[in-house]
Amino acid sequence: PPQMRAITARLGDAFAQHGAELYLVGGSVRDLLLGQPVTDLDFATSAEPELTKAAGAAAGADSVYTVGEQFGTVGFVFDGVSVEITTYREEHYPTPDRRPKVRLGTDLVGDLSRRDFTINAIAVDARDGTVHDPFGGLDDLERRIIRAVGDPKARFAEDPLRILRAARFAAQLDFRVDRRTLAAMRAMGPQLERISRERIAAELNRLLIAPAAARGLALLHETDLLRWVLPEVVPMAEDTGAGRHKDIWLHTLRVVEQSPPRLAVRWAALLHDAAKPMTRSVDARGEVHFFGHERVGADLARKALRRLKQERALIDRVAGLVEMHLRPASYDSTWTDSAVRRLMLEAGDLWDDLLDLAAADVTSARAHRQREAARRIAALREHARRLEEEHALAQLQSPLDGHELMAMFGRPPGRWIGEVKDHLRELVIDGVLAPDDKEGARAEALRWMAEHGDV
Ligand code: ATP
Ligand code: MG
Repeated sequence: PPQMRAITARLGDAFAQHGAELYLVGGSVRDLLLGQPVTDLDFATSAEPELTKAAGAAAGADSVYTVGEQFGTVGFVFDGVSVEITTYREEHYPTPDRRPKVRLGTDLVGDLSRRDFTINAIAVDARDGTVHDPFGGLDDLERRIIRAVGDPKARFAEDPLRILRAARFAAQLDFRVDRRTLAAMRAMGPQLERISRERIAAELNRLLIAPAAARGLALLHETDLLRWVLPEVVPMAEDTGAGRHKDIWLHTLRVVEQSPPRLAVRWAALLHDAAKPMTRSVDARGEVHFFGHERVGADLARKALRRLKQERALIDRVAGLVEMHLRPASYDSTWTDSAVRRLMLEAGDLWDDLLDLAAADVTSARAHRQREAARRIAALREHARRLEEEHALAQLQSPLDGHELMAMFGRPPGRWIGEVKDHLRELVIDGVLAPDDKEGARAEALRWMAEHGDV
């Protein structure tokens, strides 16, 4: 893109005038070469931070900020584009259980060789666009392959998070993983115990909302990594099943793939059937039943997401979706307005996610069944939309408030007010009373008080 090109060239010249090398590196090179949108630029330089600041200012930066001076990174903003420039680094690992010691490096190839995958280890000279690709990253981009730089086992041993990064990039880019890298992922899985749950969760989240999330999940399963990062789904992934429900895992991958790339929906898609293996029973006629798998599944989802230290709001949302995921599928033409309103009220702000999840959950191999199920969800969506047009859900309140009721009956405040209001609200939800029908509400209140006035 012209803007990125202009910023890069300007910086390249300024650094050259300060006697320093400057290369575009890492994810920004990868994404530019793939033709994907790039919002910020990462550079590597031979300059040390003081010189980097001077050269950045000479290139006309709008502002400078410190990213982590001890890591040699200086941040700038150019015309709204965020730019990070890092002094060449080399990392070494004094002991396997320690964070790497970072030290300043001396040259570009040294800097590229510490990077995780070949597609992330390509550099472009900021001045003239010359490409430096010592590890064959261009080839791997072309062939759509994730390959570790150097010996994959050694690289995963240095930093086991790279194992998950491999799966995450495969999901984001829809790439395959090179054979040796794949074997190392499997072999080094136990090392993931050294990685904090928060960092594992962050990678899983990015994998799940990626375009090829199903591929990433399949990869985690094939490499036996699920047991280290998401043991809660292992029974489902390994389920050999009974009767016609033998492909829970394949079904799950399809639901993930068919659901919109929003975090809560994707997590719910992954976990919605996770409790099936432990709730299955087979009756005398050989029919398979699942008793309350959605409720057990909601507990399991909570447990898994809590263990991963996910945010409270996400945990609640996913558990709610798993618990309710079967409800929309039972919709048919016998549902009254009030039945739909009740489901909407129960779902609250999960409603849109719930319908999207239920729509994605339709994976029947038989075309007519698939169509029929999809039609139901669409009809429910439409029914709900129609109701919302008539009355916003928030309006489904008792037409009379506490003051009006006290004035009407000449009684002091008390428990009776809440009970009358609940009764009136039920009638509104059922469509017997309009939310603004105070006249009708008074008649109903009189009737109710005549029967229950002793509260
Ligand atoms: P994205 O920002 O989309 O996740 P990215 O490639 O920019 O992709 P970052 O985590 O921002 O990923 O890292 C920037 C670059 O730093 C990577 O492209 C890679 O070269 C290097 N890098 C990041 N994390 C590691 C790691 N754990 N081990 C080795 N190199 C890494
Ligand atoms: Mg990045």
